Amino acid sequence: MTCPVCQKSSSGDFSPFCSKMCKNSDLLAWLNEKYRVPCEDPVQEKDDMDDE
Ligand SMILES: [Zn+2]
Repeated sequence: MTCPVCQKSSSGDFSPFCSKMCKNSDLLAWLNEKYRVPCEDPVQEKDDMDDE
């Protein structure tokens, strides 16, 4: 199998990754993508009217 992060051949322990580092790196990339989802918040429309 080939490590999806660095394209080296992976060993069994961290399959499909070649090492713990690549496994973590892929997990971080996945988390980054997850947190990057735009947060639409339609509740914030009437928020600038209490400035008297
Ligand atoms: Zn790797």
